[in-house]
Amino acid sequence: MTTPRRKTRQVMVGKVAVGGGAPVSVQSMTTTKTRDVEGTLAQIYALAASGVDIVRCTCNEVEAAEGLAQIVPRSPVPIVADIHHNHRMALAALDAGVHCLRLNPGNIRKPEHIKVVARECSDRGIPIRIGVNGGSLDPDLYAKHGNRVTPEAMVESVERELAHFHEVGFDDVKISVKASNVPLMIDAYRLLSETMDYPLHLGVTEAGPLPWGLQKATLGIGTLLAEGIGDTIRYSLTADPVEEAKAGKHLLEVMELRERTGLDLIACPSCGRAEVDVIAVAEAARVALEELDIPIQVAVMGCVVNGPGEAREADLGIAAGRKRGHLFVKGHVVKVVPEEGMVDALVEWAGIIDRDGVEQALLLADRGAAREAEIDRLALLDDQGADANDSATKVDLIHKRTRAGEAVSETAP
Ligand code: SF4
Repeated sequence: MTTPRRKTRQVMVGKVAVGGGAPVSVQSMTTTKTRDVEGTLAQIYALAASGVDIVRCTCNEVEAAEGLAQIVPRSPVPIVADIHHNHRMALAALDAGVHCLRLNPGNIRKPEHIKVVARECSDRGIPIRIGVNGGSLDPDLYAKHGNRVTPEAMVESVERELAHFHEVGFDDVKISVKASNVPLMIDAYRLLSETMDYPLHLGVTEAGPLPWGLQKATLGIGTLLAEGIGDTIRYSLTADPVEEAKAGKHLLEVMELRERTGLDLIACPSCGRAEVDVIAVAEAARVALEELDIPIQVAVMGCVVNGPGEAREADLGIAAGRKRGHLFVKGHVVKVVPEEGMVDALVEWAGIIDRDGVEQALLLADRGAAREAEIDRLALLDDQGADANDSATKVDLIHKRTRAGEAVSETAP
């Protein structure tokens, strides 16, 4: 990360710190009816196992609040109650013991209702997320801003809510300004982060099904994180919420905002040089290695000509060549295995690295493996030419031909 993280205040959602330099946390939301206590808890446990730090449950009816009263004490992670329209549900959720409320200012607009909830949160030491959504903006703000949802309108909605909170001395707040339109969402968060220092909850709302939803959410959330903006994130996908949890955790890991706890699989896109079905091998490797649940970076490369060099930083990798797999640890060939044994070899050596470390794994290298691999590599170079991407030579050739052509056309009558 080149941009330092923006300094924000800190709020505590149960035991999870948000903002103020705390690690960026991952959130998701249950899709069960909250009154279904066992079903909701099963989903919360699945989310926690997938890397989620905080879970939100809707609190839309009395039975949901009653469910929360049983869910909260048994949940492994803090619970946020999602409140729309009925401020009494916010009070009921507080009675149920939730760790945070999410209020949508577009849906609860009466100042007296907002203040009664804020006062109660203040008394109990419970934070509130002001969750503005582009799609449910307060109608009079929508009208005031030219019948459009704009970053300014969204930030003004936040400011109005904050003014009500401040009237009752409540300031334990985090904020989101989500929109399904990615540029709008990015601009709204940028404006918000210039205006105030509350911790920010990032998300692209209604991002949609996989794979496009994943892409939209990653673009919005990732852009802001790269600018140092954002303290907690949620992927809003039309998918099993476990996918949201995995996506959030993975994004933070690849942006080096969170220590890797699981597999990071890198694989080449394959090309005409590939000696194996890279897509199939990479998928089989992903399935097998994910089961090990160890923090390791593994590379699957389609050929031994470019593969090992391009993946030399990986803890472990394999490159295909002449019906064999060249297994390498930190770029050093440690074993040559038959093509059909490539995935098994990765699993075996991932276990060795996890148990004994990279240095020890290197000591276990087969004698002669590097030489065998070099023989394969040279044979393939012989077959295919030195470098599939040897663009410099091609450009030289084009220049020579073009110059020759120019000379001919200049002398032509
Ligand atoms: S050159 Fe080799 S490593 Fe690179 S994309 Fe092609 S097959 Fe994969």
